[in-house]
Amino acid sequence: MDRRQFLSFSAASIFLTACGGGESSAPEVTPPLIDNRPDTGVVSKLTNEQWQTLKDNVLGRVILPTDEQPYSLARLSFSTRFDHIYPQAVVKCANAQDVQTAIRFAKEHELHIAPRSGSHSYGGYSTTEGMIIDVADLNDISLQGDIATIGSGARLTDVYDQLTQQGVSIPAGSCLSVGIAGLTMGGGFGVVDRAHGLTCDTLQAVEIVTADAEIISCDANNHSELFWALRGGGGGNFGIVTQFKFKAHEANGITVFEANFSFDDFEDVFAVWQTLAEQWPNEMWAQCLPTWVFGGPRVNVRAFCLNPAAEAETLWQNFIAQTGATPSSNTQSTSSYRSVMLGTCESNVASCHLSTQFEGGTMQRSAFGASSDFFNSLIPPAGVRALKAEIEQQNSDGHNGMIIMNLLGGKIDEIGEGETAYPHRKAIVSAEYYLPLHPSASNAQIDTAQAKQNGFRQVMAPWSTGGAYVNYIDPLITDWQQAYYGEHYQKLQAVKNQYDPTNVFNHGQSILPA
Ligand SMILES: Cc1cc2nc3c(=O)[nH]c(=O)nc-3n(C[C@H](O)[C@H](O)[C@H](O)COP(=O)(O)OP(=O)(O)OC[C@H]3O[C@@H](n4cnc5c(N)ncnc54)[C@H](O)[C@@H]3O)c2cc1C
Repeated sequence: MDRRQFLSFSAASIFLTACGGGESSAPEVTPPLIDNRPDTGVVSKLTNEQWQTLKDNVLGRVILPTDEQPYSLARLSFSTRFDHIYPQAVVKCANAQDVQTAIRFAKEHELHIAPRSGSHSYGGYSTTEGMIIDVADLNDISLQGDIATIGSGARLTDVYDQLTQQGVSIPAGSCLSVGIAGLTMGGGFGVVDRAHGLTCDTLQAVEIVTADAEIISCDANNHSELFWALRGGGGGNFGIVTQFKFKAHEANGITVFEANFSFDDFEDVFAVWQTLAEQWPNEMWAQCLPTWVFGGPRVNVRAFCLNPAAEAETLWQNFIAQTGATPSSNTQSTSSYRSVMLGTCESNVASCHLSTQFEGGTMQRSAFGASSDFFNSLIPPAGVRALKAEIEQQNSDGHNGMIIMNLLGGKIDEIGEGETAYPHRKAIVSAEYYLPLHPSASNAQIDTAQAKQNGFRQVMAPWSTGGAYVNYIDPLITDWQQAYYGEHYQKLQAVKNQYDPTNVFNHGQSILPA
């Protein structure tokens, strides 16, 4: 990410900005400094004849290291941190039967499996030195009534593009290259989640291939415990999902507000901003983003509103007035849902895919460190001061960074704590500590960034819940079972026992059978 991208926080470009990028160049490969990286399991080297039997039995493609150009792209994750990992094969499945065949083959040959959709796992858990089972080509999207059927390999670019053309959408995330599978199974934060719930909250049914290579459909009545676990339990734990069914909502206009403040005003702005979770109607969602990069820290606040623009404007201007601060800019615009979600991609959807994954795609991979926190109560002045002091310290140490704080509550909190595996229903604010680096950053630089971001969790521990978002999976969190799942971990283990008792699907922070 270069300076221009980092600073271009206009509402129209919010999504692309969040997706990193910059010119791609070959990363310097250094040995990993962080140990708790993907458990690559048993590694076996198979013969060409053995691979041929797999090729003969799948409709999709089996990409091997000998397929030089396709392999050099197919093996890569979104994060450049995992470029040193070379899978023995990437199986690009064409249907659920291919997934079955690939699972059987991997088990027979004791190959570690990494399921992959969009490849954005922060921990690199969708790559392996065994076999990547890639569902990217299972990307059909269709709509019947208000039920959207979405293949597990669909990217958010295509989800927003195809659904909004039909006047509907689902609540989903802000980075267009993210895959629907990882996003949904971890929860799914996005700009309409206070109004419509998390991505997983609109899920109606899932088709999944289990560790026994059986295709099953689960919903509220069939395999209901598994359906519960797939809504917040995180990807890569229970099987390989091939298809989701979501309840779609009408995609009407969105009014976007955005204001920039001096960092001197951070405490005043944040103190008021966090109260909006209780004050604003569910139709209004907001982010507070302290950023420290290229010229010192500053604060950006933005709101995405589904209610009438006049009502939203009154509430937004009240918020600005309550802070007592004078923003250096304060803008407002109303656009179609499609324009807001796709931004500049609206006119060229094809290019808004990763260049490594799609012909014609221009989005670049990224290097970054990230961690997260949740807050169930207002952060008191001492906590905000501690956050500010840490930002100032990192800035004066020469580290760039940003904190992406989402306003939660609303519909997310209206769903019972036990209804899905997602455990952070009571949180009013989430924080993602994010340090973007140039894609050519070395692994040592990325690991330093990761440690810095994880360090925010210790700073904020007196006020946070101790929870962390499984979709911002952080290999440095040691009590991850509690952090990602809280009291739900035991029930998740019971589901794991039932559907994957021998732990076929495992990674560095995967749910273990009880
Ligand atoms: C730049 C960026 C922006 C982001 N923005 C948001 C945001 O706005 N909101 C939000 O909530 N999150 C966001 N995320 C986090 C994102 O939701 C997670 O990284 C998510 O897990 C990515 O899903 P994926 O399918 O792209 O990744 P993958 O790496 O393919 O998968 C993630 C995990 O799920 C497993 N998995 C993948 N496919 C399947 C499958 N079919 N069946 C079973 N398991 C599977 C993988 O093995 C891995 O463990 C962002 C991430 C990045 C890098």
